[in-house]
Amino acid sequence: MELRVLPVDPSQKKPIPKDDSKLGFGRVFSDHMFQMEYSTDKGWHNARIEPYHPLTLDPACTVLHYGQEAFEGLKAYRGAKDGIFLFRHRENLRRMNASCRRLVMPEIDLDFVSDALKKLVLLDRDWIPHSPGCALYIRPNIIGVDPFLGVKPAENFIFYILVGPVGAYYPEGFNPVSIWVSDRYVRAVRGGIGEAKTGGNYAASLLAQKEAKQKGFSQVLWLDAIHRKYIEEVGTMNIFFMFDDEVATSPLDGSILPGITRDSVIQILRKWGVPVVERKFSIEEVISAQKSGALKEVFGTGTAAIISPVATIHYQGQNYTVADGKTGPLSKRLYDFLLDIQYGKKPDPFGWVERIG
Ligand SMILES: *Cc1c(COP(=O)(O)O)cnc(C)c1O
Repeated sequence: MELRVLPVDPSQKKPIPKDDSKLGFGRVFSDHMFQMEYSTDKGWHNARIEPYHPLTLDPACTVLHYGQEAFEGLKAYRGAKDGIFLFRHRENLRRMNASCRRLVMPEIDLDFVSDALKKLVLLDRDWIPHSPGCALYIRPNIIGVDPFLGVKPAENFIFYILVGPVGAYYPEGFNPVSIWVSDRYVRAVRGGIGEAKTGGNYAASLLAQKEAKQKGFSQVLWLDAIHRKYIEEVGTMNIFFMFDDEVATSPLDGSILPGITRDSVIQILRKWGVPVVERKFSIEEVISAQKSGALKEVFGTGTAAIISPVATIHYQGQNYTVADGKTGPLSKRLYDFLLDIQYGKKPDPFGWVERIG
């Protein structure tokens, strides 16, 4: 397939935000986007990079009623010697294809989309912020667009990629967060769609997230939907607990999103010789470890924050403080290591980082 590039007319270019400290997350988008369409007879076709534009959708279309869609989230970093770096981006595209299989949507060609993504990032490279911790967020999305109200998989799809500058996750420094353990709502259940990055999971999380915010907590920690006791994950992050010298995270058994940062952290810890296990553990185990002093650190992992240390866990009316409410040494070490390789500042012993420009 041919990739056409239709650059925006210079007179139509949008102003690039000047103050990186005001960027926030996901509000600003660049001058261009990638788009292609799928139909059963043509497959994926009409691939182009063109000026950022609204989509025209039939109000009856599949995604708007039944949520047939999948998305990804990754970043391009401006780092050493003004280089532009991607981190394990093919893993995001592979995961997107896994989500597509679960949602009965056509897969994308990894090489083609990887190439299109790089061309888009480089075309809009002026939008990649210079300030530390800032990046260009990349949002691929696939939606089912049949103009039909019957509940069945669509036959027509749109795939597009948006990019836009995002601010540092911790503008005031690396600050631990407080999390609310939800014992009322669940996010996902094994056999459902929890392991796919698809809109329904986030719709299911909104009410719990709202209630947690109202109570002064920044994220929801989800327990498993069946026993309501095993730790699953947090908002848009996987979660790790350090019990004495061993780090544990929940196994990927169908209801958890397989995070790329999660996988990277497991591999880094193994390389560092820090014991790390994927096993089930309950909220009771976490609380008794907190009480006995065995719970050393807790941190979330995900593309947005990279590493997010947890200071407080709230469960059934009680607050439990972790690491004296500070950032633990392992969380800090992981954060520094990942950022250094993502920005091309330190050698990457894993071959995860690719300089694209
Ligand atoms: C995206 C996401 C993650 C983190 O995945 P990364 O690949 O590390 O960014 C974790 N949990 C959920 C629910 C997510 O949506």
